[in-house]
Amino acid sequence: MTLSFQRFFILLFLGTISCNNSCDIENNDKKANQKEEEKNKNKSLNYNKDFLLGKFDYRDHPNFVLVSEQWSDKEIYLQKETLEAFDKMATAASNDGIPLIILSGTRNFDEQKVIWENKWNLNKLEMQDETKIALKILTSSSMPTSSRHHWGTDIDINSVEEIYFESAIGKQVYNWLKNNASKFGFCQVYDDKKVTKRTGYETEKWHWSYLPLAKDILSEYKMQIELKDIKGFQGDYLAGNNDIQIINNYVLGISKECNF
Ligand SMILES: [Zn+2]
Repeated sequence: MTLSFQRFFILLFLGTISCNNSCDIENNDKKANQKEEEKNKNKSLNYNKDFLLGKFDYRDHPNFVLVSEQWSDKEIYLQKETLEAFDKMATAASNDGIPLIILSGTRNFDEQKVIWENKWNLNKLEMQDETKIALKILTSSSMPTSSRHHWGTDIDINSVEEIYFESAIGKQVYNWLKNNASKFGFCQVYDDKKVTKRTGYETEKWHWSYLPLAKDILSEYKMQIELKDIKGFQGDYLAGNNDIQIINNYVLGISKECNF
């Protein structure tokens, strides 16, 4: 009797020890899973459909901050992480004698709609074929709902004119960016498509994208957004037109170097 009691307590004790070890592992696993779930939940909350389509007010969004006067004389907002990376990049550039200024950052759906529809109405005055009008605008401007500028990760630097990048200072700026921007997470998404064979917009030497955030957002875009979501502006019915295919040719038409 006494012996079996002893056995019982020994077994209970061993059981507690083994549970202590295995339970710790189990608890850690649970915690890691919870953390991962929380992260994914936050991610999908941050990058829900409205976010991806630019249908939110970035001025009120907790991840967005105002760019300081040091880097822009306009009221420009970016995701905090994008701005921190730009701050480091622009400081390094400045130390090398290269000035970097942000001309454009986040634009939401409504702001992109104004840009698109102004161009649409202007072209309507002299062109009949609406597919041709859309294709003409799409050389340099996005349809609302399909712009990377919605995401707070993309910036236009110094000038949006090719002629600036042909000047002596423009060449220096561009060379510096080509050699250094990737160290800070930035990539030129719209490179020379005649060389790289991508589709979509013409070359934009001024447009740089902060990849550590933008690559996650693009993959969410691919998963969540369909052609039927591209709507709410003049000419929206053309988004799926064979010659346009806004998602395949434009949203996904970025430099391979930026698409990993
Ligand atoms: Zn741009």
